[in-house]
Amino acid sequence: MAHSITRVLVVVAHPDDAEFGCGGTVAKWVKEGREVVYVILTNGDKGSAERSMTSERLARVRAEEQLSAARTLGVERVEFLGYPDGELEDTHEVRRAVTAQIRRYRPDLVVTQNPHRTASLYASHRDHRVAGGVVLDCVYPLARDHLSFPELVAQGLEPHKVREVYLMWGEQADVVVDISDTLELKLKALAYHTSQMNDFALVEARVRERAGQLGKPKGYAYAETFNRILIPR
Ligand SMILES: [Zn+2]
Repeated sequence: MAHSITRVLVVVAHPDDAEFGCGGTVAKWVKEGREVVYVILTNGDKGSAERSMTSERLARVRAEEQLSAARTLGVERVEFLGYPDGELEDTHEVRRAVTAQIRRYRPDLVVTQNPHRTASLYASHRDHRVAGGVVLDCVYPLARDHLSFPELVAQGLEPHKVREVYLMWGEQADVVVDISDTLELKLKALAYHTSQMNDFALVEARVRERAGQLGKPKGYAYAETFNRILIPR
């Protein structure tokens, strides 16, 4: 990643998506002095097998878990947009809300989810694909153009040009980030998402295995990978 990247915005569908997809990379960037902010699009209020759980209580629990996880990685700001879990749609309102966050935090780099479902990535959550699609449209051209969402400009949210996007969970990734020094922090952050995990030992084993596989071609003990998109200037 270019040294001139100083501000990063991670925009994902659910609490825990950022830790799974880029937690080690985020911790590394924070250690390098870059500022990272999270935007969580849904409140995660459906993901519970506990029959006595309510959506209201689960949304509160998941927000707390996400804040603790983010702080573990050194992320101080987390914006919760609060859309219902499982029902994220590519609407004018959602595009405006995401555009507003991009204009507010003015990131050089945006990290988001893969908008495509392919044969090898069939088990991709609908909210993840919608999130990725919305974010790409907001990065380019909506956040850039002052005539898009002029009401945001009127609120002081000036147009902003993002320079690059990293997509998580892609195929044939072109960016391999060595997270050997931050894998433990990623695991520590993931462990805060207790409402999502019955068996953390199993999660840990899977995360280690996957990060090990991703790092192997480059000779890293552990890695996270991304597809990089350079935004036309
Ligand atoms: Zn998710």
